[in-house]
Amino acid sequence: MSGTLFTKIINREIPADIVYEDDLSLAFKDINPQAPIHLLIIPKKPIATTNDMEEGDRELIGHLFLVASRLAAEMGFAEQGYRAVMNCNEHGGQTVYHIHLHLLAGKAMGWPPYTDKLKQA
Ligand code: AMP
Repeated sequence: MSGTLFTKIINREIPADIVYEDDLSLAFKDINPQAPIHLLIIPKKPIATTNDMEEGDRELIGHLFLVASRLAAEMGFAEQGYRAVMNCNEHGGQTVYHIHLHLLAGKAMGWPPYTDKLKQA
């Protein structure tokens, strides 16, 4: 099984700007940032979508949010705030089928987040 491009980033088969790594997860800069700070925090275990999470993944998913929180503190944007979000499948805007937590910061973000394209869908 070859996996997605995120598996290749985990295995150092393709380059990424990695900012954090531990036994369970990896965090790196998004190649097409949507905010001044845009990181992706991924589990090393390949899980295709949030629909595919299992009971046994409970701690792993919680770990991703704790990594986000720690990075926000270390990088100095915890107080001002940030958005941490996972997209799922087509209507969620998912394009890489290895779950990832987007960590966006550095500017005030709007809500709701959907675009006209999805409003019309
Ligand atoms: P999503 O649309 O939620 O699946 O998010 C996938 C994200 O991966 C997008 O924000 C892309 O910009 C990002 N991305 C795609 N390829 C790479 C890459 N090689 N390195 C870093 N980020 C990437």
